[in-house]
Amino acid sequence: MFKTKEKMAEDFIKTLVVDDDPAALALVERRLCRHDNPTQFKITTAENLATALKKISEVNFDVILLDLGLPDCVGFGGLQAVCRRCPEIPVIVFTALSDENAGIEAIQKGAEDYLVKGDMSDSLPRCIRHAIERNRMEQQLKSAKELAQQSHEEAEYINEQLQISIERANLMTREALRANKAKSEFLANMSHEIRTPINAIIGFSEILTQEPMPTEHKSYVNTIFESGQSLLTLINDILDFSKIEAGKMDIDIEECSLPQLLINLHKMMMPAARKKELVFEILHDTDLPRVIRTDTGRLRQCLINLVNNAIKFTETGHVYLRVSLIENADGPMIKFDIEDTGIGIAPENLEHIFGSFNQADGSTTRRFGGTGLGLAICRKLSELMGGKVAVKSTKNVGSTFSLIVPTGIKREDLKVDSISGGKTPETKNKTYSPLKSLNGRVLVAEDNPSNQMLMRLMLERIGIRVSLAADGIEVLEILQNENFDLILMDIQMPRMKRIRHHQKHQTKVPRNTCHRSNRPRHQRRRR
Ligand code: ADP
Repeated sequence: MFKTKEKMAEDFIKTLVVDDDPAALALVERRLCRHDNPTQFKITTAENLATALKKISEVNFDVILLDLGLPDCVGFGGLQAVCRRCPEIPVIVFTALSDENAGIEAIQKGAEDYLVKGDMSDSLPRCIRHAIERNRMEQQLKSAKELAQQSHEEAEYINEQLQISIERANLMTREALRANKAKSEFLANMSHEIRTPINAIIGFSEILTQEPMPTEHKSYVNTIFESGQSLLTLINDILDFSKIEAGKMDIDIEECSLPQLLINLHKMMMPAARKKELVFEILHDTDLPRVIRTDTGRLRQCLINLVNNAIKFTETGHVYLRVSLIENADGPMIKFDIEDTGIGIAPENLEHIFGSFNQADGSTTRRFGGTGLGLAICRKLSELMGGKVAVKSTKNVGSTFSLIVPTGIKREDLKVDSISGGKTPETKNKTYSPLKSLNGRVLVAEDNPSNQMLMRLMLERIGIRVSLAADGIEVLEILQNENFDLILMDIQMPRMKRIRHHQKHQTKVPRNTCHRSNRPRHQRRRR
């Protein structure tokens, strides 16, 4: 649309000169058509505004020279009409009136330049070319601005769309999280529902194993008992896992007796190690604090899982649990290294096994059973306790799993009361030895009928007199009239809030419960 410098040099500049004074027209024509001009002009003239507008609509002019004093318009009316008609063509006001304010007003109203007739003689061609060039640049600037504005609007539109997409993604994430949480809660509730009958299966089959019966029957009952225990382990894993997933796994930091923990662990794991003729020892090379502050139950759970795995995946040799006091950036920590001489783990599976439901390879389940949840739970629990779990292993040589947890006690306080390095004393294989002729009265507060029956059976077999209460109110009513040596209480039984308060000064209420349950109250069975 606009001519470049080169184009202007080779073409004519089509110029419309609008002036009602023939002498002025002739003068301009003469000046622009001189043969020594570097640029050639093709001149069209108009004596009034009406003719000018008509010619503008017929020819695509490069520039318009416009006199202000035309017969058919007043003041700047002509200039405004021309600028309106062809806003992209530069208009130079060309007048006899030498008035600076008028010049400024002309520029404000759209003129490219303001020339006074007497002054311009020689410079007219140059002024025209400059006006054209200036106009061209202004038009380019305008186009660039429009383009920038358009890009800006497009960017804003894209941003809006992006915002909408982010909001939609956030919504979907929230919905997915909610669904995941609901799933985990459902799973947790289901696990509780399943655990109750399993407790009864394990309890009653354990009682049956002590009854005289043919060997064949005994082996059946043993199988029921062991299967019940495997099922319970599985359910407990699923319950823990869903609790962790739902963000509901609480850690209870309390004082934990380290020697007690280790002795109990040794007692508990020894039978399984003996069964496979493995050496199982707990060693502590450094002095250890007697007491640390941690979640004893969860720490025990992690250790049982790791030692259990070590025994499970080792056919010959040993399983050592080395315990040491170490110092890292987080302060003093207890490090448990569970070392075995078992099947080992291939390097590519070392991280993978900490994922949920992951096992080192497909054959593991067939050979050893398991769900692949234990280590995932261990890792999560160790993190919740402020520690971590890691593994080093060589295939067919053995593995060392390291569990590190904070002592929860300042370094200087740890030194005061420590146990020196050595070996945890070996304990005898734990055998069931029923307590005989105990004399006492126990109130069993439990809402599940099978558990009630089981508790009564177990306690009465060792000479304890048992009373039953199905909820908190019943407990209070019974306590009005009778005295007990002990209350065994399900901690989340219906209607039980006031029992502890009521009994504080009368009967010793133990912290032990015969059956822990986290089921919401409304979901619990009532009779
Ligand atoms: P599970 O034992 O129920 O399969 P875990 O999460 O406890 O689940 O272990 C995951 C997997 O890690 C196991 O299936 C096994 O392949 C591997 N693994 C764990 N501990 C050991 C070990 N001490 N030696 C060899 N492999 C192990």
